[in-house]
Amino acid sequence: MIGRLVLIGIGLIGGSLARALKRANAVEQVIGVARSRDTGDLALDLGVIDRFSMDPGEAVESASIVVIATPLRTFPGILNAIGKNLPGDATITDVGSVKRYVINAVKRHLPEHIERFVPGHPIAGTECSGVGASFAELFERRHVVLTPLPETNEAAVNVIADMWRRTGADVIKMDGDYHDQILAATSHLPHVIAYSLVRCLAEHPEPDTLFELAAGGFYDFTRIASSDPVMWRDICMTNRKPILRTLGEFKSRLEELIDTIEREDSKLLQEYFAQAKQARDAGLDVKKKIAKQG
Ligand code: NAP
Repeated sequence: MIGRLVLIGIGLIGGSLARALKRANAVEQVIGVARSRDTGDLALDLGVIDRFSMDPGEAVESASIVVIATPLRTFPGILNAIGKNLPGDATITDVGSVKRYVINAVKRHLPEHIERFVPGHPIAGTECSGVGASFAELFERRHVVLTPLPETNEAAVNVIADMWRRTGADVIKMDGDYHDQILAATSHLPHVIAYSLVRCLAEHPEPDTLFELAAGGFYDFTRIASSDPVMWRDICMTNRKPILRTLGEFKSRLEELIDTIEREDSKLLQEYFAQAKQARDAGLDVKKKIAKQG
């Protein structure tokens, strides 16, 4: 049983974590840290938290676990604000989508707590934001990646791994830089492409006609372009190199495709699509198999 969980950032991810832990009776008290009174009041009304504070420094006093669940570039300010009052035995973690940036921020702004900091990232989410969009089932049968450092205390890793397992998630461990490379390809690249595709249509002389005539496939493909722009700005700014590398690879594939269409090479074009279909179908099969086992 977690004693006092302090949740800095009561949005989709933080709110869903609090809901899942409360549903599992895994936590005694959840204290939220809100940037606005409206968010704190809403989280209280929804029963997501037990009380809230607007001051992260005050909130972390007597915390058992501190979870940082705000946009990435707020982290340095938050780490500076909590350092003085953080109990020596508290375990700290985060849910940020980029790990190297977070690790460096903790080394810089909270070095005395580095052993009890467990970087984390739930591979779960939706295109919606805010505590109103949070739900207890979000992490069920989803991966949560922890990226502990060589200096991270093993007991602290176990505390955070147990916390996530209580939400129904499957916990895996990985190197932080490796995480950032993988996520650049599987998550950051698709989001950037979805935003660009929508921009491409929006800048057409008659965007309303295009959006009206667009079929389900367009809206399936671009669902994630409705995600929070601040969050995605921060992800792109804090994972620049891996994202630029993977965008460069994507650009080459696109140029290959343009060249194939220009040359009217129908055989190669069919092969290009067939290989992509095969790879996607095989990936989905693996996912289905794992889901059945779970
Ligand atoms: P969200 O729904 O927009 O929630 C973010 C929360 O942080 C909001 O409640 C916001 O307050 C609050 N906030 C912003 N700045 C703050 C500050 N300086 N102090 C205190 N609170 C502050 O975002 P989210 O989707 O939960 O994302 C949170 C983190 O999870 C991000 O680091 C993101 O990279 C990571 N993540 C997101 C997903 C996803 O799919 N959404 C998945 C995995 C990880 P207001 O209510 O006042 O706006």
